[in-house]
Amino acid sequence: MKKVYKVLVGCFFILPLVYFLNTPRSAALQVVYPKTQNTSISAASTFIIGSTTPEAKLKINDIDVKVHDNGSFVQVVPLNNGVNEIKIDSLDSKEHNTMTYIINRVPQKNPESAQAPLEEFAPDEFIYAAVLKDNTPLRAQPDEYARRLTHLSKDTVLMLNGKKGEYYRVSLTPSENAWIKSSCVVNYSTINQKMFAAVSQVSLSEDKLYNYIKTNLSFPVPYKITETADGLNMELYNIEKNTADTMLFQTSGEVKSFTVNSVAPDKISTYFIELKNKLWGYDAYYEGNTLVLKIRKAPDIDKENPLNGITVFLDAGHGSEEAGAIGPTGIKEKDVNLDIVKKLKIILEKEGAKVLLTRNDDTNVPLYERAKMMRESDALISLSIHANALADGADPYEKHGTSVLYYNREAVELAKTLRDVVTRKLGTKDDGVGMYSLVMTRPTMPLSVLIEVAYMIHPDEYKLLLEENFRQQAAEAITDGLKEYLLNSVKTESIN
Ligand SMILES: [Zn+2]
Repeated sequence: MKKVYKVLVGCFFILPLVYFLNTPRSAALQVVYPKTQNTSISAASTFIIGSTTPEAKLKINDIDVKVHDNGSFVQVVPLNNGVNEIKIDSLDSKEHNTMTYIINRVPQKNPESAQAPLEEFAPDEFIYAAVLKDNTPLRAQPDEYARRLTHLSKDTVLMLNGKKGEYYRVSLTPSENAWIKSSCVVNYSTINQKMFAAVSQVSLSEDKLYNYIKTNLSFPVPYKITETADGLNMELYNIEKNTADTMLFQTSGEVKSFTVNSVAPDKISTYFIELKNKLWGYDAYYEGNTLVLKIRKAPDIDKENPLNGITVFLDAGHGSEEAGAIGPTGIKEKDVNLDIVKKLKIILEKEGAKVLLTRNDDTNVPLYERAKMMRESDALISLSIHANALADGADPYEKHGTSVLYYNREAVELAKTLRDVVTRKLGTKDDGVGMYSLVMTRPTMPLSVLIEVAYMIHPDEYKLLLEENFRQQAAEAITDGLKEYLLNSVKTESIN
């Protein structure tokens, strides 16, 4: 998953995947990471990853390094500030093969916006602006790594009342602000009072798969959705008047209760949605001036055959020139991921599931395109399959195993169950369940997780990932994890 490596493959013969994954390279000494012999790094250590002839004696800066039986080696090298010279010497029966790497350890850069001065607007002065693209993040701080408060749809109207570096400050309530990149909005005009929207109608409806809550507004406002213990809360900002405040709604389908409460001084309208079952996914978007909240209905799960009739979306990480992590002997993560996904598809289909893929060959689908395909798939569950690597500063012998990443609360149980079942069946180390904001974990529908099956840069795990049988077992373990999750969900729901 981590883009530690980026390798450009110029001329490349298209050979069967099996050939790639099972054929060891025989070059005397090759280093796959660092990717260039002269580079800058800010971490306190890096690692040298590569391969040599299995019988060679290998030294890195005069320290003996273990060469594994497939020729792989991985060594952590501490870095001093400034220029570091790293000498790699591989001695086999005939000769020394040497390579020298120059790594410049540089201080970490602070984001530019952090240093930029804050430009306050006059108290009643606002820039009236609109969002240029769907899925634009609104952040807690003026920094591209800051927490995402929510995502905005194209044409959402914002009131801007300050600027810091590349970011505008967005006024949400008298006491709550957020930040948006200035290149993400178009400014219409400067106005001398904040503009508020009116809600003319709120309605509930349903079809086979979803419940809908539709809100007609005078213009699209920012909103934020929070997952609660029994459903969802949705806050609409900059609302002058909501006709739904006093209404009693006839609920149906998944929605057990629905109430609207507006707070006058804050100009926030909050929707409280209580669900009959656990949350199976939701999405919100604008259709013109209508805000649509779409809530997934609980699936019918066959206790004898839990995957029967379930749609699963599978994403094989990376592809084409986007290789992902590179193992010590040069095998690319993208090929390992794709092979596991193909095996998983066959097993899931035998279980009666419908399977959709982002790719089934060595093509690269852009990340946001993958997320869009996922959101539009009507799948119940999305799995993105990867094999892991680490960033400089970590120790690949310490941190390894299987991990499952999620972002939304609704996907925690799925992540935990997959982690439990996969580590148990494969015997891999438990590398944890983690909340990560990633393109493939952020969508709130389908339930989305990303599995790091094992590490490409851990010599033993790499060897396993290259075994056909291990990849087959990984696909079977993931299937068992999905079945267990679906069965547990039925049990939980029959208690309620
Ligand atoms: Zn990856």
